[in-house]
Amino acid sequence: MLNNYSIIGSGFSSLCAAASLAKEGGKVKVFEKNNELGGRARQFTQDGFIFDMGPSWYWMPDIFENFFNRFDKNPSDYYELIKLDPGFQIIFNSSHSIKINSSFSDILSLFESYEKGAGDKLKKFIDDAEIKYNLAVKSLMYQPGVSFFELLQKDILINIGKMSIFSSYRKLVARHFKNPFLRNILEFPVLFLGSSPKDTPALYSLMAFSGLKQGTYYPIGGFGKVIDGMVELCKELGVEFYTNHEITDCNFVNHKISEIVTKSNAFKADYVICGADYHHFDQNILPKEYSSYSKKYWDNRSMSPSCLIYYLGIDKRLANLEHHNLFFDSDIEQHTDDIYKNKQWPQDPLFYVCCPSKTDKTVAPKNKENLFLLMPLTSGIVDNNELREEYFYKMINRLEKYCGQTILDKILVKKSYCINDFKSDYNAFKGNAYGLANTLLQTANLKPKIINKKISNLFYAGQLTVPGPGVPPSIISGQIVADYILKHNS
Ligand SMILES: Cc1cc2nc3c(=O)[nH]c(=O)nc-3n(C[C@H](O)[C@H](O)[C@H](O)COP(=O)(O)OP(=O)(O)OC[C@H]3O[C@@H](n4cnc5c(N)ncnc54)[C@H](O)[C@@H]3O)c2cc1C
Repeated sequence: MLNNYSIIGSGFSSLCAAASLAKEGGKVKVFEKNNELGGRARQFTQDGFIFDMGPSWYWMPDIFENFFNRFDKNPSDYYELIKLDPGFQIIFNSSHSIKINSSFSDILSLFESYEKGAGDKLKKFIDDAEIKYNLAVKSLMYQPGVSFFELLQKDILINIGKMSIFSSYRKLVARHFKNPFLRNILEFPVLFLGSSPKDTPALYSLMAFSGLKQGTYYPIGGFGKVIDGMVELCKELGVEFYTNHEITDCNFVNHKISEIVTKSNAFKADYVICGADYHHFDQNILPKEYSSYSKKYWDNRSMSPSCLIYYLGIDKRLANLEHHNLFFDSDIEQHTDDIYKNKQWPQDPLFYVCCPSKTDKTVAPKNKENLFLLMPLTSGIVDNNELREEYFYKMINRLEKYCGQTILDKILVKKSYCINDFKSDYNAFKGNAYGLANTLLQTANLKPKIINKKISNLFYAGQLTVPGPGVPPSIISGQIVADYILKHNS
């Protein structure tokens, strides 16, 4: 008899779980509360501009390949991927920016030009990071995280020292490099995707390997094309999609979910996978006696930042911008403290500008520019239009200065997105953007579990469980949960 799998949410983890289960003959239904598929990675279109609403950095390309290879497919069967050159630039002030080229030997020379001996040190740093990357991908990231015995693997035990799980990323970087600009280049990935570098295990230098050695990729048409590709694959495998279907309740028989319920309907399920925000399902949908965690547990989690985003369509071409631009022209420590310690709107923010129209003609009309401004912000604080606008002007003034052009007078499309939208659109706990912070106490088996011990047919996927936030980990999360169900329940 075929199993019925009901998957809640249509983000990367849900799509990857859906395809993996359908491939093994399951009857899979995906229920999405919004009108569009893709979760945080959906797109919207306005006046000829196509905006990616969430992810824009395509790192760890091997994880995408591994996923499609499971189905004897390749990413290129579904979307066109290019390598960006430069991968990104960091702007320290209006006359000093550093471009990170796609060639690793160029990056080594760049480091050497800022600090004598730093080229060789970077090579060693990235060689070590590559070892961590390979170990993490091979032995850690695909583990379901349900038992500590999973960690007792030969590879992990022999290499535990090399993985630097117990030391801080900031200390690791500081041991290698003195120059503050070089330190910023290495620290920004962990800062933007999850936690303060001083609280992040040095294991996460694996992200520096991906960003500097593997390089930064871009799917033509935007990240939404990756979602489209996965949806197409799912449909080829027979997955059914139900948009505008918010799951609000469950019915139970013998401590199992028998049906998941929307406002107007109920759907039978043998297995349920929640790929929607874990906290929301655990605390707001399940009856208390079935929750895996308490309110106190969730309140004590350290969340990765939320963010303020502006999607802008600009009626001219802009100078000096690359595809990815990091504005590090203010005090990084202050902004990090405002996110993680002071939990307030930043005094003087860092921000990120994505300008995909520099690479891709399809995302903006001719002679116009597609801009995405993102400012990391602590989750769970007050969000209103006045604050959004105040920070919009802070960002745009700095952008105008850097481009040496007026922008405010050329705005064709302007849409903001912040904490309140994350809550209302995705049921996101505290309006988080990327789930839990990447701290040691929230890594691997210490994350919320993929299983619910009280309900034997309920499982979780997505950025709040293993292996963590980001598109590649969310892809892996969907594969983990599907494999776990197939192994233990078929
Ligand atoms: C602004 C932003 C920028 C990012 N940038 C990057 C980047 O550059 N690179 C990168 O790798 N990662 C990035 N990330 C992180 C990455 O996008 C996420 O980690 C990943 O997409 C999360 O996928 P997920 O499977 O957890 O599901 P989500 O994308 O969170 O989707 C969950 C879905 O569940 C739905 N849902 C919620 N409640 C219900 C319900 N009751 N019933 C039905 N459906 C429900 C939601 O509507 C949503 O569609 C970014 C994230 C954000 C927000």
